[in-house]
Amino acid sequence: MTGHVTMDRMPPRDETYRSLSYWLDSVPGSLAPADPLPGDVDVDVAIAGAGFTGLWTAYYLAGARPDLRVAVCEAQIAGFGASGRNGGWCSALFPASLAKLSRMAGRDAAIAMYLAMQRTVDEVGRVAAAEGIDCQWAKGGTVHLARSATQLERARAEVAEAREFGFGEDDLRLLTAAEARELAMATDVVGATYTPHCAAIHPARLVRGLAEAVRRRGVAVHEATPVTEIAPGSLRTPTGTVRARYVIRATEGYTPQLPGLARAVVPVYSLMIATEPLPEEVWARIGLVGRPTFGDHRRMVIYGQRTADGRVAFGGRGAPYHLGSAIRPEFDRVPAVFDMLRHTLTDLFPVLADAKVTHNWGGPLGIARDWCASVGLDPATGLGWAGGYVGDGVSTTNLAGRTLADLILGTGSDLIRLPWVNHHSRRWEAEPLRWLGVNAGRHIMGRADRREPRAGRQSRAAQFFRRFMGD
Ligand SMILES: Cc1cc2nc3c(=O)[nH]c(=O)nc-3n(C[C@H](O)[C@H](O)[C@H](O)COP(=O)(O)OP(=O)(O)OC[C@H]3O[C@@H](n4cnc5c(N)ncnc54)[C@H](O)[C@@H]3O)c2cc1C
Repeated sequence: MTGHVTMDRMPPRDETYRSLSYWLDSVPGSLAPADPLPGDVDVDVAIAGAGFTGLWTAYYLAGARPDLRVAVCEAQIAGFGASGRNGGWCSALFPASLAKLSRMAGRDAAIAMYLAMQRTVDEVGRVAAAEGIDCQWAKGGTVHLARSATQLERARAEVAEAREFGFGEDDLRLLTAAEARELAMATDVVGATYTPHCAAIHPARLVRGLAEAVRRRGVAVHEATPVTEIAPGSLRTPTGTVRARYVIRATEGYTPQLPGLARAVVPVYSLMIATEPLPEEVWARIGLVGRPTFGDHRRMVIYGQRTADGRVAFGGRGAPYHLGSAIRPEFDRVPAVFDMLRHTLTDLFPVLADAKVTHNWGGPLGIARDWCASVGLDPATGLGWAGGYVGDGVSTTNLAGRTLADLILGTGSDLIRLPWVNHHSRRWEAEPLRWLGVNAGRHIMGRADRREPRAGRQSRAAQFFRRFMGD
């Protein structure tokens, strides 16, 4: 699979978008860009970006106030970004830990945030069902394997933190090796954590279905319409200006390409592979019955799911960060990272040694300087935003969309009091320090993981990196 789509060129054809991920390759319906902005328009709310963030915001606004005029401008097609390429974990994970949120905003606020995330998983499933979006939803939870003594320590610490904040066995459980292997028959398993708060989904079916759902509710989704400037009261595009009382930025990893926002988040690439559909006898030696999503407790995140059509979709971080927060189509594919993913997957499940990898792809996600996602609205200017989800945006975007709708409509809901609302992360360092820091961290984390079976403690370099990354 090769595919090259730039944000600058004329919109490419359906099959080029299909090459962006296994999910977009297997989504029903045409991917040809539709309804580019024909000229200047006046609306109530204008949104830049038709990923999950932009579309969930439009969805809840249109549901609460059918009379509201809402327009979404998308540079490519709905689901072009991370929303159409991710691992399909619709989880209650939030990029900032309970301890960190507690330091930021207090214990009760941290707990409220995590409870809101748990409810959000079910809200995504509810809307998908209500709107007839077949996103191949399977709420089988997540098993995070521990495959070394160090990983087991980390698993125990995670459970201990959950307990400190009042989350019990029903939220996060430590599993014995035998219990873990009942879920995932991976090698070297010494234990695991398990949470029920996650569904495996087909993300492109969800994001494309959501675009259809908002169109049915009267929202204008203008594809092939790149926003060149976001300002109070307007979104500028090459074919016209959208004037609006409220203007929402929902551009996540692509945000640094917008004027004045070069240091708001860093785009970090996550890459994935998918195998061919596997026969039942192979699945009998892997498990994942009920489709729990899976990963392990290493530092450099890996994540996988058993897809509805019997493949393994498997991803990880570790691809380079590019100077100046550059985003280019060729950065989606890094052969060395695909090899590493293939190797790691076979290491986990040797039965996959002969399985054919049919798809490989990647995409940028957004990381704020303090690694805390945020959502907010400035009532004076009408400018709003949501993002910085790191790798946890599939469900968090739904919470963001509901929160932005409440902020815009002035609904005094509990959501607008959550600690991430109107949280401002400081800007990233100027280059080349940003490049040095992010890439040094990538190397250090990878090396620490490779040494892990022998090392009981974090190296000094790993400790430095965790501080640099705001942990
Ligand atoms: C490989 C990978 C795996 C991941 N796995 C998971 C996972 O399993 N679970 C999870 O929770 N999260 C995961 N994530 C993160 C998750 O996918 C994102 O957090 C989420 O999709 C963000 O949604 P979004 O709408 O904010 O951003 P995006 O989906 O990136 O959407 C932004 C949109 O804005 C458009 N845009 C950008 N600039 C402009 C402009 N100037 N004008 C108009 N439009 C513009 C883009 O084309 C894009 O469509 C993963 C991410 C990646 C890349």
